[in-house]
Amino acid sequence: MRHYDFDFFVIGGGSGGVRAARQAAQLGARVGLAEAAELGGTCVNVGCVPKKLYSYAAGYAEAFEEAAGFGWELPEPPRFDWARLKTQRAAEIRRLNGIYGSLLETAGVTVLNGWAQLVDAHTVEVDGRRHSARHLLVATGGTPFMPEMPGSELALSSDAMFDLDPFPRRLLVVGGGYIACEFASIFNGLGAEVTLLHRRAHVLGGFDDDVRQFLAGEMTKAGVKLHLNSEVTALSRGPGGLLVTLTRAEQIEADAVLFATGRRPNTEGLGLEAAGVKVNDKGAIVVDAHYRTSVPSIQAVGDVCTRVPLTPVALAEAMVVVDALFGQGKRRLDYEFIPTAVFTHPNVGTCGYSEADARAKFGDVAIYSSEFRALRHTLSGRTERSFMKLVVDRKTDRVVGLHMVGADAGEIVQGFAVAMRAGATKALFDSTLGIHPTVAEEFVTLREPMPG
Ligand code: NDP
Repeated sequence: MRHYDFDFFVIGGGSGGVRAARQAAQLGARVGLAEAAELGGTCVNVGCVPKKLYSYAAGYAEAFEEAAGFGWELPEPPRFDWARLKTQRAAEIRRLNGIYGSLLETAGVTVLNGWAQLVDAHTVEVDGRRHSARHLLVATGGTPFMPEMPGSELALSSDAMFDLDPFPRRLLVVGGGYIACEFASIFNGLGAEVTLLHRRAHVLGGFDDDVRQFLAGEMTKAGVKLHLNSEVTALSRGPGGLLVTLTRAEQIEADAVLFATGRRPNTEGLGLEAAGVKVNDKGAIVVDAHYRTSVPSIQAVGDVCTRVPLTPVALAEAMVVVDALFGQGKRRLDYEFIPTAVFTHPNVGTCGYSEADARAKFGDVAIYSSEFRALRHTLSGRTERSFMKLVVDRKTDRVVGLHMVGADAGEIVQGFAVAMRAGATKALFDSTLGIHPTVAEEFVTLREPMPG
């Protein structure tokens, strides 16, 4: 039998890659992992983690605003120190990079700090040195997509937002997806004047239509200017900042422009072609149900395959691969009812089908929804409202869609996601007692379906 340097070699030290490498090593495989940048990938370095920290920072602005209604007198208007937040964040991310490194080391994974390139179906080259492996995993993630136009080099990607200097007084965010909405909310909360410019009539494509409209209303109330049905055609430097030209010859001036216009798989320079790994027309690696690429010894997981570009999905995919290669081969990942949250202010949390998708799939659906002012805001002085919605398949009574816009929606929907995966019916929701007084209890007290 041919000897390989490694049983398993992972390209990419992000969420999927690190999880796969650790698990495989814990199952006794000889594992190598190559990462050219810091360990942790997008999620740890320029994604989920720092974004959530900044979202917490923005949340303090709301808390200060609300405090007076609850009897607190703040001695003077609180001052926000952007430099301090950046330093604090950077220290925490460095700590996490270190933790990832020591987890791999403890598991016995050989970590190579360098750019890896496939040479053939069983060989990878890192900084001029070749290593052979029985199995290879590509987990290189994605990277921001920046549309080309005159002056587009003046725009920033989300990667650059975390260390932006100076803090922008006026920020223009282009795009209407997760990243655009989250950064618009964060910088609005931190004190910038934020305009979110999107080419469609509504933000958050793919989400439930009521959620999209409700969120837009709440973001507007919170101070984000929504500029919809519009596109940027050019950027240039003007005397007072960046001049952004829009369709219909309008112009907007801003101190910073974020292009949050989607992400693309990281497949450049990996030697995919040399090894015979096929990519689709969007540049994503094509995999079968077992995450095998067109080359049987090479697998791929996470954003580089662009199935569902979420960290927990990449982790779960990694574990399926490792279980198949070195474990019992029993693990599967079901892509239905994946919960997700958008960390806007207020949050969006969702699990299962939008009303439109549920109608298309199940036909006859019942809709329950509620919009209300949370108890907190009876004294806070803020006009923020919450929205909750259940989509029920009438044939089976199963709750097939659960949607929320409101504080802590991510935390709340995570719990309900378990019930939904277990196939909870509306009757089961109805027989569940609420926890009073909470916002979440509304999900178990929705009694009357919407007419129609
Ligand atoms: P999305 O695909 O969610 O959104 C991209 C946005 O950019 C869309 O609104 C799209 O509009 C718009 N767009 C694309 N191309 C252009 C263009 N040429 N000009 C103008 N607008 C354009 O991508 P994101 O980058 O926001 O996020 C990527 C993925 O990362 C998400 O789908 C999500 O899975 C994940 N993510 C998850 C987070 C979370 O879990 N909280 C947070 C951040 C990211 P249109 O709809 O018209 O195509």
